[in-house]
Amino acid sequence: VALTHRFTFENRGSAGGKIPLGLKRKGLRIVVTGGAGFVGSHLVDRLIARGDSVIVVDNFFTGRKENVMHHFGNPRFELIRHDVVEPLLLEVDQIYHLACPASPVHYKFNPCYKTNVVGTLNMLGLAKRVGARFLLTSTSEVYGDPLQHPQVETYWGNVNPIGVRSCYDEGKRTAETLTMDYHRGAGVEVRIARIFNTYGPRMCIDDGRVVSNFVAQALRKEPLTVYGDGKQTRSFQYVSDLVEGLMRLMEGEHVGPFNLGNPGEFTMLELAQVVQETIDPNAKIEFRPNTEDDPHKRKPDITRAKELLGWEPVIPLRKGLPLMVTDFRQRIFGDKEGLAS
Ligand code: NAD
Ligand code: UDP
Ligand code: UDP
Repeated sequence: VALTHRFTFENRGSAGGKIPLGLKRKGLRIVVTGGAGFVGSHLVDRLIARGDSVIVVDNFFTGRKENVMHHFGNPRFELIRHDVVEPLLLEVDQIYHLACPASPVHYKFNPCYKTNVVGTLNMLGLAKRVGARFLLTSTSEVYGDPLQHPQVETYWGNVNPIGVRSCYDEGKRTAETLTMDYHRGAGVEVRIARIFNTYGPRMCIDDGRVVSNFVAQALRKEPLTVYGDGKQTRSFQYVSDLVEGLMRLMEGEHVGPFNLGNPGEFTMLELAQVVQETIDPNAKIEFRPNTEDDPHKRKPDITRAKELLGWEPVIPLRKGLPLMVTDFRQRIFGDKEGLAS
């Protein structure tokens, strides 16, 4: 029997005062798996500020307590150390399922197929049992090395099922399949977001993703490592734009999948140039061999999200990057030097 639990919470705690007038609403009880990670922790901030009660489920594989520590002591916030590969019993209204090692450096050494499949299955089982709405954070990687440009949601992708990235891209493809299975077969309310490269404060400093690498390298006066010829492209979205899109998707009426990304497309050499302009015009560039199965280009077509969610990103790379640099400076050098420079 599907039960929908709706809990009412007062708007109290440290974030209570930040809720804009007119937005007071019945607080929901929401699970964010992977909520101690980069994207998850920003999402948690928004949900707490909105007046909801949030349970973060995270095994701290790439996440950090520091990302959510500012909510400790708030009665509307709970943190559970748990691996989503194991079953979990909770009573909630919504599940944002983000738990997954998201950087190639991590998933190549710790293949994440099991997390994507068993973890997603468990969270769908949970959604089914309590009648919660379930949102999957899938990825632009489901398009593989795309033969269509820009990528529209109707494109089926070009993915190597046994390559070094396959635990991630095939894992997310399977997670999408499971999500639609539970939707069609068990009537679970689901939402699917296909997220394109996202950057911002609280990104793992050494997780090997290109924006965090370049920013950390420029700050440490190390050369920026461009893989391959640097002509491959990505489209970079600032994290607050993504969080807005995820919340609109969850609250809206459409299952998706929806591309959530910033259509501004850059080659890695152009990105290196923006990092030079932002941090250090004298930063050197060093070419390194590219990784296997690296997608040549990627850019979202966001027509569907614009039309059905009324969403589009508002922060261009040149505006978002400095916000991330401030955070990285503080984390790399400590507050004192960070503020001084
Ligand atoms: P992240 O690594 O910062 O966050 C992932 C979080 O999941 C971490 O806190 C980690 O500890 C946790 N986690 C990993 N395995 C777990 C497990 N088995 N059980 C419980 N917790 C686990 O990465 P992120 O960038 O914040 O990514 C969040 C989600 O968004 C991921 O699902 C990722 O695939 C998706 N996504 C991100 C991007 C991006 O550019 N940041 C792009 C596409 C998709
Ligand atoms: N599950 C969970 N929490 C719940 C309900 C289910 O972790 O509250 C897990 C459960 O252990 C199972 C998975 O979700 O492995 C799928 O559950 P479902 O009931 O759909 O499948 P079944 O148990 O019938 O195979
Ligand atoms: N890349 C790079 N230098 C780095 C890290 C990555 O040139 O230090 C390149 C990488 O080869 C890829 C692009 O940047 O073409 C994006 O890589 P990332 O791992 O950030 O994301 P993804 O490949 O998952 O889109």
